[in-house]
Amino acid sequence: MPTPNSSPGTFSPATGSASQSSRDHTPGGQWAQERIYPGMQLNSIHGEFSFSCHEMGPPSNSPATGGGLKARDVSKYMQGFADTLLPGKIMFDSEIITVSRDKTDSTWAITTKNRDTGLLETRRFGKVVLRTGGTSQPMIPASLSSSAAKEADFESKVIHSAHFGANLPKILSAISPKEDAEERRPKSVVVIGGGKSAREQEPKYHNSPLRLEYSALWHMRTNDEGVSREDGFHALVNNGTIQVIAPAWMTGYAAGRSVLLSNGQTVEADMVILATGYASTWDGIFKKETAAELGLYRHRSAIQVDERTNYKTLVNPPAPCPDNRENWSSSIYKGLVPAKNILRRDFAINGTVITVNDGYSFEVMAHWISSYFLGDKMKLPTAAEEAFALTERDSMWFCKRFPDTNLSRNEACSSFAVCFTWPQCADELLEDMYLPSMRSGGNWLKWPFQVVGIKELATLHEERAANRRKNM
Ligand SMILES: Cc1cc2nc3c(=O)[nH]c(=O)nc-3n(C[C@H](O)[C@H](O)[C@H](O)COP(=O)(O)OP(=O)(O)OC[C@H]3O[C@@H](n4cnc5c(N)ncnc54)[C@H](O)[C@@H]3O)c2cc1C
Repeated sequence: MPTPNSSPGTFSPATGSASQSSRDHTPGGQWAQERIYPGMQLNSIHGEFSFSCHEMGPPSNSPATGGGLKARDVSKYMQGFADTLLPGKIMFDSEIITVSRDKTDSTWAITTKNRDTGLLETRRFGKVVLRTGGTSQPMIPASLSSSAAKEADFESKVIHSAHFGANLPKILSAISPKEDAEERRPKSVVVIGGGKSAREQEPKYHNSPLRLEYSALWHMRTNDEGVSREDGFHALVNNGTIQVIAPAWMTGYAAGRSVLLSNGQTVEADMVILATGYASTWDGIFKKETAAELGLYRHRSAIQVDERTNYKTLVNPPAPCPDNRENWSSSIYKGLVPAKNILRRDFAINGTVITVNDGYSFEVMAHWISSYFLGDKMKLPTAAEEAFALTERDSMWFCKRFPDTNLSRNEACSSFAVCFTWPQCADELLEDMYLPSMRSGGNWLKWPFQVVGIKELATLHEERAANRRKNM
C-alpha cells in the first residue's frame, strides 16, 4: 500500500508489521500542514497526486483553474489518507538520526530522536524503505548564510524558502509598513533563485528570471503554470509588482540592507528569501561505511560508448554539465534499489524518481518494493554487475536527453528521472512483477492522448497475491 508522502518507512518481516517515522508534526511531507501557506500552488493537476485506495475530491475552484492543485488540497488529502488508512502507524516528531546494518544478524538498527522530548530510541527492523525526500533540507551557500549576513552587518531577516510556511506570520509582520515615517516606506523582499520555490514566494514579493527560461526540449525544469492567474508569477512580473533581475547571482551581503549581485548591482532588502534549493536528506543519517556497503552514492560509469548516436531529434545538444561530462552515474537501480544491494532484498527507496505523475508512479513503485521485499517472482537482475550495467545505461540516456541537468546535487530526490515518460516507466515496473501493463488500453502510438487513471491500479494487491499463489 502506498503511504502518504512520506517519511522513512521500515518493515519487520518477523511480525509483518510496518512502522513509519517522520520528523514533521503532521503527514504529507512537503505538503504537511506546517510546511504550506495560503496561495501555494502545485504544478501538478488533480489526478496526478492521489492513490487508488483513497479518492481525492475535485480541488477548490476546479473549473476556473482547470483542475490545478493548491497545496492545501494535497495537504487535506494526505491528512485524510493518514487518518483513514494509517491511524497510529506514523511516529511524528521523530527524526531518524542513524540507519545502520548489524554485521552479525543483518538487521537494520534505526535510531530516532523525539523532537519534543529529545529522547533517543533504537529499534530493529528486517527491511527499510528510505523515503526522506529531497525538499526539506535547505541548501544554502556559505556566502549567503545567516552567519555571512551577520558578519557583514546585514540587518534584515534572512530565511530559506523551506521555512517560509512555518514563518509566514513573522515574515508578514517584518515587512508590513509601520507607524513612523521612515518605516512607512514600501518594503522590499528579495527572493534569490528562479525555480519553483522562488516563483511561489514572488507573487508576494520580487526578483527572478522570466524570459531566460531553459529550453523546454533540453531541460526538465519546465513549469505547468496551468490557467493564467492574476496573482500568478508571470502576471505580477508583467504588471511590475515583481522586478526580475537576471541573469545574476547573489554574491553576498553588505552593511545595512544591501544584497550584492554578480552583475555589480546592489539591491536593498527588508527581507531575503533564499530559494536556493535543497540538500540531500541522506547525508546525515548514513555512516560512511553503511552508505558504501549499500552502494548509495554515484559512481563513474563503465560505459564509454554512446549506443544511441543516430537519434536525429537530439542533434545539436547544449554542452553537458561537468558531472555528465565526467560520466557520473546513479547507483540506484530504477531509482528503487542500490544496484550493489540488489540481491539482498532488504533495502529500497521511494520518492527519488523525478516523475510528472507522482501518485501513479509512487503507487506502482510501492507495489514493486513490496514484491521485492516479499521475495515474489520478479524480473530482476541476477547479479549486482547486471544491475549496475542497466543503471549506467539509464544514466547515459538521461545525460544524452538532458545534458545540462545535474542530478547529482540532491540524490534523495533525483536518483533517476523519467519525467514525461512515467507511463512507460510504470509499465516496465508492472511487467517486472508479471502484471498486465498498458492498463488503460493505449498503444505506442496513442499513449500521449490516453486517459490514464489511478483507479486502474486498485487491484494490484490482489493481482500480486494471485501471482504469488500461482508460483508457490
Ligand atoms: C515549493 C515546492 C513545490 C513543489 N511542487 C511540486 C509539484 O507541483 N508537483 C510535484 O510533483 N512535486 C512538487 N514538489 C516536489 C515535492 O517535494 C514532491 O512532489 C513530493 O512532496 C515528494 O514526496 P516525498 O514523500 O518523496 O518527499 P517529502 O514530501 O519531502 O517527504 C519526506 C519526509 O521525510 C521527512 N524526513 C526527512 N529526513 C528525515 C529524517 N532524518 N528523519 C525523519 N523524517 C525525515 C521529511 O521531513 C518529510 O516529512 C515541490 C516541492 C517544493 C519544495
